[in-house]
Amino acid sequence: MSIDQNKCNFKIENIDSHKHISDMKNPQKEMKCLALYNPLTNIPNIIYAKENLPKIINLVEQSKFAAIVYININDFKNVNYDLGYKLGDKLIVKIVSIIKGYIKEEDMLCHVAIDRFAILVRSVKDELDLAGLVYSLSKSLEKNVTIENSNIYISASLGIAIYPKDGRDLEELFRNADTAMSFAKISGKSNYKFFESNMRKEVLEKVELEKELREAVENNEFTVLYQPKVNIRTGKLEGAEALVRWIHPTKGIISPVVFINLAEEIGLIEKIGEIVMKTVCSQNKKWQEAGYKKAAIAVNLSVNQLKSNRILNLIKKTLNDTKLEAKWLEIEITESIIMEDFRYFKKMLNKIRDLGIKVYLDDFGTGYSSLSYLKTIPVDYIKIDKSFIDDIGKDKKQSAIVSALIQLAHGIDFKVVAEGVEDMLQLKILQKYNCDMVQGYIFSKPVSKEEFEEMLKKESISNL
Ligand code: C2E
Ligand code: CA
Ligand code: CA
Repeated sequence: MSIDQNKCNFKIENIDSHKHISDMKNPQKEMKCLALYNPLTNIPNIIYAKENLPKIINLVEQSKFAAIVYININDFKNVNYDLGYKLGDKLIVKIVSIIKGYIKEEDMLCHVAIDRFAILVRSVKDELDLAGLVYSLSKSLEKNVTIENSNIYISASLGIAIYPKDGRDLEELFRNADTAMSFAKISGKSNYKFFESNMRKEVLEKVELEKELREAVENNEFTVLYQPKVNIRTGKLEGAEALVRWIHPTKGIISPVVFINLAEEIGLIEKIGEIVMKTVCSQNKKWQEAGYKKAAIAVNLSVNQLKSNRILNLIKKTLNDTKLEAKWLEIEITESIIMEDFRYFKKMLNKIRDLGIKVYLDDFGTGYSSLSYLKTIPVDYIKIDKSFIDDIGKDKKQSAIVSALIQLAHGIDFKVVAEGVEDMLQLKILQKYNCDMVQGYIFSKPVSKEEFEEMLKKESISNL
């Protein structure tokens, strides 16, 4: 398909992103243009950009300064999901009107995908001016927008690639602006980033890791380590936390910190979660059948695992297949996850607890849950984050906070576990504050199943 500019009444030399299809003088003759415009926003789409590539490149080459600004509206899918497509469409129209307030006639706005836009900026004179424009644009794309009585918080991630240093052709400029945008997204909401050459390297490394992680799931290259949870008064083993490791064929042991987020992003977390849950339950049953001390083992669940009812089926099926009683399986979920969608996760956790499974609120203190929420969170244990424990021996204020957290938790009938306890002074202070359980290097790092089996045999970790 080639664009006939005369028929479309559209001059590429004077690109008009503000032009509306209904402004066309002869709609029938200009129907062809419809395929080249986004029907919702009436601005050129990616097909338009591709069709007119030589002309656009010509424009770029003639410009004193040109750059691509790539814009992604954060979490737009959630708006569509929570409030419906109609409101989502209206929001996009509103966003386009905000963006249009920042572009001039010689710039070109392109609607790349429903929540993605690209601006070919030619109206600024240099990088400094562009930085000013992008800063203002990103600030005005972070706000509460009211549509049909719904108050919607929007924010955007922006990536910038400058011609010719970041790409000699449009495709390369687009790709690099997109890469910069994904870095902006990682570094926090409502951010913008200028492309840097090392970003490409990092993206390629991520693509490689992604490929290897898919193979790791196929070949089950995972193992589970167990870190004991110890009763702070008796020194007895109370249970353990299961912590996954990836045994990479050439790179060796890879920490979950490196791959859990990636697994979530590319949709592999459910499969990895299933491997961990099955391994833990069948191993625990074997230990019980061998007559060792019975211990509950906690599995970490991440946000995407908890977003679907499949997690309930997985838990039920695994317990059924392994014949492990529900009380010997526990789950840990971080405080920040719950705060993402309190009502939903509250319901989900209640369903999990109804199965007889105890729940830990992990990384407590880092997720900004308000105290009024806390009393209704359906959990059994609170795990005070390591960052609070680190300084309790050195910093009086920190120690006062931990003391208050423990009292607060006990006041609403939660048991308290302190994580990341590394030295005797921390342990003594936690004993004084009546903490219930302790997990940390002071007793043991996460260990293999063989080593944990030895701990189960002894039943006690320390003579406290
Ligand atoms: P987390 O749930 O907060 O786990 C505690 C982390 O702190 C573990 O790191 C553990 O090895 C480490 N740790 C425990 N005691 C100490 C200590 O005294 N000092 C120090 N410096 N570190 C200590 P790990 O095993 O690298 O796990 C990191 C995170 O990965 C976990 O944080 C958890 O969020 C996630 N993760 C681990 N296994 C799984 C899994 O099977 N599924 C999911 N979804 N996430 C997992
Ligand atoms: Ca945990
Ligand atoms: Ca934790």
